Amino acid sequence: EVSGMGESLLPKLREPDEQEAIRFGERVLSYTALATAASGIADRVGSSRRVAVWATPSVETCVAVVGALCAGAAVVPINPKLGRRELEHIVADSEPELLLAEPGVAPAEALASVSLHTVELMADSEQGRIDLADEPSGESPALVIYTSGTTGAPKGVVLPRRAIRSNLDAVAEAWEWTGRDVLTHALPLFHVHGLILGVLGPLRLGGCVHHLGTFSTRAVAEALAGPATMLFGVPTMYRRLADDAENDPAIARAVGRARLLVSGSAPLPAVEHQRIARLTGQQVVERYGMSETIMNCGVRAWEDRRPGYVGRPFDGVELKLVDEQGHDITTRDDDTVGEILVRGSNLFTEYLHRPEATAEAFTDGWFRTGDMATRAADGYIRIVGRKATDIIKSGGYKIGAGEIENVLLEHPAVAEVAVTGEPDADLGERIVAWVVAAEGRTADEETLAHHVADLLTPHKRPRMVRFVRELPRNEMGKVMKKALADRGASARA
Ligand code: ATP
Ligand code: MG
Repeated sequence: EVSGMGESLLPKLREPDEQEAIRFGERVLSYTALATAASGIADRVGSSRRVAVWATPSVETCVAVVGALCAGAAVVPINPKLGRRELEHIVADSEPELLLAEPGVAPAEALASVSLHTVELMADSEQGRIDLADEPSGESPALVIYTSGTTGAPKGVVLPRRAIRSNLDAVAEAWEWTGRDVLTHALPLFHVHGLILGVLGPLRLGGCVHHLGTFSTRAVAEALAGPATMLFGVPTMYRRLADDAENDPAIARAVGRARLLVSGSAPLPAVEHQRIARLTGQQVVERYGMSETIMNCGVRAWEDRRPGYVGRPFDGVELKLVDEQGHDITTRDDDTVGEILVRGSNLFTEYLHRPEATAEAFTDGWFRTGDMATRAADGYIRIVGRKATDIIKSGGYKIGAGEIENVLLEHPAVAEVAVTGEPDADLGERIVAWVVAAEGRTADEETLAHHVADLLTPHKRPRMVRFVRELPRNEMGKVMKKALADRGASARA
């Protein structure tokens, strides 16, 4: 890169026009208004190195993030629903010099260590001077994203500008995503999915993001019936869309109009993929990403979509599968499960203030994702689950939770399910299914065990079924299996 200066992350902000950039309900910002508001924020950020943003789903959050990035700072987006303990952890861990928050929303007492600046939008675009500083080099940090904490305490993932730029460009190419697209968005703004893909993606391309504030199937349908061309969602959203599309043809029709329906952040159950396809005539594109790597794999817009498969690695991403001894089994093509390792321009630089965790996460320059998968002969990747929570060692077999979950979801009495392993004196671990029963339906343990034993090899049947009213999920709809394991342990105690 020329003289150490970075190529622009959001080029259109340097030559803004009146095109719509961000729409939040009734509030709309053109690129000119966004550039003006962002340069106002950039002035306040000055030479701060790290800036926290109180990431409510709002225009203010988008402006604060863009403004801080324009100032050359690294942004730490904060989940506004965190409890005091979690919040203190993240603030102490990331040491931001400044917190940007919209007026009246952040709990000042928990944040006493950082000076709080509220974000006001400069609505009058003639007032602000658009004067964006030169951007720092590609290796300098742009975002510190905290992981979901599914497997342990959240870690701050430092993502350099280079990773965001190269990965967004690769994803855009794969999805034929351009500045003419309008993205429907209803996710939180403090993870890779909602913030990098959902906000920085459209803005990098010079397109528009239409955020619904909160998710509802009606709002999604309205957006897609209008100018929106794409939807980025998590599996729970697609389940609700399928449920409502069953009863309301207008929803089915609107969803069917989308150019691209994309799902990620958690596995999309095969039954949901098939229901959406049947009801809307559209097959969902699956992609697989994580905080440390942004997007690893995805189905191309012009290629085959298969339930359970997350497509091939994006440009700039190298992927291999290794067995427990670390041997490369990528091209075995025989459904052998291996751990996914990745390297490439999409990778993070480090876990903030955790040199040991960073070193442990890499083997010979490859990042170990902790996710297990198989690879088909044509390179399509199928995620089987997480090494830590989804591989159950029972009776000498290694069994993936996802396969059993998918089969249980085919039973009409099962609305939602999560499969875990629990210590068992005989088997090592026994398979436990946590089931939310479908409305008005009942099933017993024996019926569900038979159902699985009928469709899969019998040792994959659940030995115990625990009926629950709901599954513990985080704000992205991910099932918190650690919480289930804890519940199981206290039920046994
Ligand atoms: P922590 O690392 O703190 O335990 P986390 O891994 O849930 O939390 P994220 O980085 O937000 O935090 O999530 C990435 C993980 O989400 C991936 O490692 C993978 O397990 C899962 N994931 C993402 N997309 C998909 C997908 N399409 N199918 C299956 N799993 C997915
Ligand atoms: Mg993780």
